Amino acid sequence: MEGAERRLPAEEPFVGELLAAALSADGVDVRVAATVASAEPADGGGRLRLEDGARLAAERVLVVVGRRPQTDGIGLDSCGIEPGPEGIRVDDTCRVVGQQHVFAAGDVTGIAPFTHTASYQGRVIAAALQGRAVRADYRAFPRAVFTEPTVAAVGLTAARAREAGHRVLVAVTGLDRTARALAEGDPRGRLLLVADRSAGVLGGATAVGPGADGWIGEAQLAIQMALPITRLTEVVRPFPSFAEAYEPALRELAAQLG
Ligand SMILES: Cc1cc2nc3c(=O)[nH]c(=O)nc-3n(C[C@H](O)[C@H](O)[C@H](O)COP(=O)(O)OP(=O)(O)OC[C@H]3O[C@@H](n4cnc5c(N)ncnc54)[C@H](O)[C@@H]3O)c2cc1C
Repeated sequence: MEGAERRLPAEEPFVGELLAAALSADGVDVRVAATVASAEPADGGGRLRLEDGARLAAERVLVVVGRRPQTDGIGLDSCGIEPGPEGIRVDDTCRVVGQQHVFAAGDVTGIAPFTHTASYQGRVIAAALQGRAVRADYRAFPRAVFTEPTVAAVGLTAARAREAGHRVLVAVTGLDRTARALAEGDPRGRLLLVADRSAGVLGGATAVGPGADGWIGEAQLAIQMALPITRLTEVVRPFPSFAEAYEPALRELAAQLG
């Protein structure tokens, strides 16, 4: 693939809804799509005025505007590399497109700004330097947000899968269907699986719930290995575990496959 996929997908909409509900239950005043018209220091904190006229007092004001690859001032021009707004374009051996003798790894590649991306790409580069042809494969790349409950995802969202031309099937399990969530008294989470009808395999998964960064691993392995859904339904998971959320969703997908 010339120029690996630039951006991993945004998460499924239910993630924001579940997190907003969890934050609200903790007493957080969540305002979505609100524009701050002005901010000023006040009483050791800050005072905000929103465009709709609302006024808010805050102990701290954090401006969280995302991240972008930092490629300025590191001498890339001396190597003939011209990064774009999304970073340095690399091919699937992490060679810089147009400068095949230079490799790049990590946030500067703009592919997925995570520590595990940087170390994975480092391993791909080490293999290339040893003369082994290892191709970077981002299909089953995990993404996690360590909130409470945790959010984790892998592969394609349903929207991205449709955009990519897949015949998409979707199945969802609420964690309230697992004995574990009920035993822990926290049934808020959900697991959504995205499948490719033609291939009969998973293409993506999004999970919200305690330890979701761990139990998303089953979907990750299934996507990476292209394991058939009809085989995944045979897997036995420990009782009581959050991983049991896979069972109803996989059975539903298998039924839809026919
Ligand atoms: C607040 C925060 C929380 C995060 N939490 C997570 C998380 O939970 N999980 C996760 O996977 N990722 C997380 N990330 C993202 C993760 O930190 C980055 O994706 C990862 O560090 C990228 O690795 P990197 O090697 O590309 O860059 P970096 O880790 O930034 O390393 C770049 C290095 O290059 C050095 N450097 C810069 N310029 C020069 C120069 N001219 N000469 C020599 N050296 C130079 C820098 O000092 C730095 O040491 C988080 C990021 C932030 C900001």
